[in-house]
Amino acid sequence: MMRFYYILLLLFFAPSEILSGKSKYHSNNEILGFLDRFSETSSLKTHVFSIGKSVSGFPLKVLRINQPGNRIGVPSIKLIANIHGNEVVGREVLLHFIQFLDKNYETNKQVKCLVDNVRIYILPTMNPDGFSESIQGQCEGVTGRHNKNDFDLNRNFPDYIYGNAYGVPQDEYRRMIQPEAAAIMKWMNRTRFVLSASLHGGAMVANYPFDNYGSPEELNNKYEALTPDHDVVYHLAKTYVHSHRRISKGVRCPWDEFGLLYFEDGLTNGAKWYTVKGGMQDYNYVAGCIELTLEISCCKYPQPKKLSMFKKENIQPLLKFGLQALRGIKGRVFDSQTQKPIAEAILHIVGRKFTFRTSKKGEFWRILRPGAYNLKVEAVGYESVTERITAEEYSEDECPQIPMISISLKPKQ
Ligand SMILES: [Zn+2]
Repeated sequence: MMRFYYILLLLFFAPSEILSGKSKYHSNNEILGFLDRFSETSSLKTHVFSIGKSVSGFPLKVLRINQPGNRIGVPSIKLIANIHGNEVVGREVLLHFIQFLDKNYETNKQVKCLVDNVRIYILPTMNPDGFSESIQGQCEGVTGRHNKNDFDLNRNFPDYIYGNAYGVPQDEYRRMIQPEAAAIMKWMNRTRFVLSASLHGGAMVANYPFDNYGSPEELNNKYEALTPDHDVVYHLAKTYVHSHRRISKGVRCPWDEFGLLYFEDGLTNGAKWYTVKGGMQDYNYVAGCIELTLEISCCKYPQPKKLSMFKKENIQPLLKFGLQALRGIKGRVFDSQTQKPIAEAILHIVGRKFTFRTSKKGEFWRILRPGAYNLKVEAVGYESVTERITAEEYSEDECPQIPMISISLKPKQ
């Protein structure tokens, strides 16, 4: 009898079955249930944990797929949806993506490559409180967009130019940082992410940093505010868009009278579209993680019958995007005398102003286009070094195993 119940249980909760059935939206609680059940039943190494709570106390739960275990040199990526509570398609897309990775791990070479070589963190809802306020069928508007304290979370991060989004003094602003944004910041401080995507709705376009700029001189002649890593950023955006059947052709949203949401090639620089102070994308970039803002549906909260199309058309783009974490360089920084790894070493590619840091185990990662670069490495109490490094070229169907670069720093006398 016990065995019968066990089989029944498995039938209900086998990961591949969790999302089956009719196209429907999952409530905040159902998402938590899905993540827990998935983690319990998947044969992949997974872990569910909370990075913090929303204003109303709802846990912000993340699923980590960590097939590589504790292996050194494994890059981490994150996929986040629903920062705007009323932009809901990304939630369902991410649940579907989790299930897709599980189902296709043994049979699909690219899935296996991603799952075996990348730590994948997925946060299906960053703004569950806003979601509870939002209304199914509302394609436009802002009902449910903000968090429970009425803050736009994508304007709530310390801005790289102004320090804050509102022109108020720093310490006052720190008190205004909302728990949802603070949870992301703390999480990013613990984990060295190399690549990230934030899924939105309201247009169909891949938006790349910067979202903000200091003065008009920082704009190029196309009115864009580009990062020093634009070659990489643009490549990442193109990687996503080119495998998206509709975005790659440019999508005109039905209510977009003046073409404000229309992008011929499905790509735009954030600041060129409209400036955002305190956006998550810029915060990530400055902190050493390249994040894109992916707008994946014209309608912010479409009818559920449309969901299967959105799920389907985003799988390949997300997979190809995630695999980019395996391109570029990676390595470790050591103390030349003790041979111990150095945490919090600061690295930068010479000629590119922004830095990235080593993990607790002294590891670093940076996505780069193929070529030779100078990598400068500094750490408190050590002589800094600059080394010539090379990022190799890999074809699309390869599963790159890039070599670990070992860098030794001499303690200062
Ligand atoms: Zn949005």
